Amino acid sequence: MSLARIQFLGAAKTVTGSQTLLEFREKKYLIDCGMYQGPKRIRELNWAPMKYASEIEAVFLTHAHVDHSGLLPKLVREGFRGPIYCSTATKDLCEIMLLDSAHLQEEDARYANETKHSKHRPAHPLYTVDDAEQALSLFHPLPMDQWIDISEGLSLQLLRAGHILGSSFVQIRLEKEDRSKLLTFSGDLGNPRQNVIKGPVSLLETDELVLESTYGDRMQSRTDPGGVLAKCINEIHKSGGVLVIPAFAVGRTQEILFLIRQLEDQGKIPEVPTYLDSPMASKATKVYLNHKEELNFYMNGDSKIESPLCSHRFESTESSDDSMLLCMRDGPMIVVSAAGMLTGGRVLHHLKVRLPHPENIVLFVGYQAEETKGRLLEKGFPKIRIHHKEVEVNAKIVTMDELSAHADTEDLVQWVKNIEKKPKRIFLNHGEEPAANALKYRLKHELGIEAHVVEPNESFEI
Ligand SMILES: [Zn+2]
Repeated sequence: MSLARIQFLGAAKTVTGSQTLLEFREKKYLIDCGMYQGPKRIRELNWAPMKYASEIEAVFLTHAHVDHSGLLPKLVREGFRGPIYCSTATKDLCEIMLLDSAHLQEEDARYANETKHSKHRPAHPLYTVDDAEQALSLFHPLPMDQWIDISEGLSLQLLRAGHILGSSFVQIRLEKEDRSKLLTFSGDLGNPRQNVIKGPVSLLETDELVLESTYGDRMQSRTDPGGVLAKCINEIHKSGGVLVIPAFAVGRTQEILFLIRQLEDQGKIPEVPTYLDSPMASKATKVYLNHKEELNFYMNGDSKIESPLCSHRFESTESSDDSMLLCMRDGPMIVVSAAGMLTGGRVLHHLKVRLPHPENIVLFVGYQAEETKGRLLEKGFPKIRIHHKEVEVNAKIVTMDELSAHADTEDLVQWVKNIEKKPKRIFLNHGEEPAANALKYRLKHELGIEAHVVEPNESFEI
């Protein structure tokens, strides 16, 4: 007789839409409730009705990224009323991200209705700001590193995952009669090379492990990321150009700001005006600075100049008018803006203006998915389309992967190796198929642990 059952409702053989169902003592729980992102055929999965929405007792959230949290407002819209357990920092970041996501959904629907662009008349948003606010009212932050009783026979512990601020492993202890099991859900696993936040902790024990596999088949470069960045900044300082850095608002932006400041303080670059043109990233940076316990550096005070998350000549632009003015300003200067994969946002305006000129540099610091404009630029396309206009690419395109927030194949294997009492079985999710398969092979041959690459909707007795 099995004790419980888990089912992979999302992030199976793909890297977005994280959602796992746990059934125990006739109650249902969700671990993460993420949105699908990327090409249209993947995003369309977001429109399917949520499974068991009104039957779910509680959600356990690993971290704030939208591919793990972004369907919570939809779950609420479809009847969920239980608590959403997560770390305090995750709750603070979700307040920014879920409201922003809801605004985007409403804007998309409005745009589709104005342009009659949708097959649905009228087009409805996936969810609204009201839904997001209702979801936020259900958040229940928990302290880290403490076992908390959630319901009969089920207790929960959050441990630092070192991926973004607040990210945690969710450990669940199930007890029924004389049997017990310990399950661990990794969410996204970080790596120990991040500057801004502390790295992932090692696990003492787990019986079963659900492990992400985004970089299951890849090693990230171990060179000093400051070297590439310093070279770019010194180049635009000389040429009077603009360095545009597209960056995810939560995580990568803070790493970049920290590095720029560090290079200035070490005298490796001149003090060049730096603009953060992403209201969401500015808000997220404030949340980072409010959670000093998770930061990897010591802060002397709260004043702007003492924060290592801004350079000496730093400004953040709030209004879209200020953002447009920035597009007209002469270099040398650095512009950090979202979206990280050029899927939308203010960074597109900057690229439209800066890409045609050879003195400018575009620096990619995060993963560029297939079929995104970011991937086209990385591949060296001479022209790309932005806002229905063809734009010539004469600026220099530079890519670095040293700043990834994910564990790579080496980190993943090492992290499992460090678990004192190793899991009997590992379920691999959150990875494209080749990455998950490569990791499965390594876990079997190097550590002797059976791993299973999960299929969409596949379920397991545990
Ligand atoms: Zn993540």
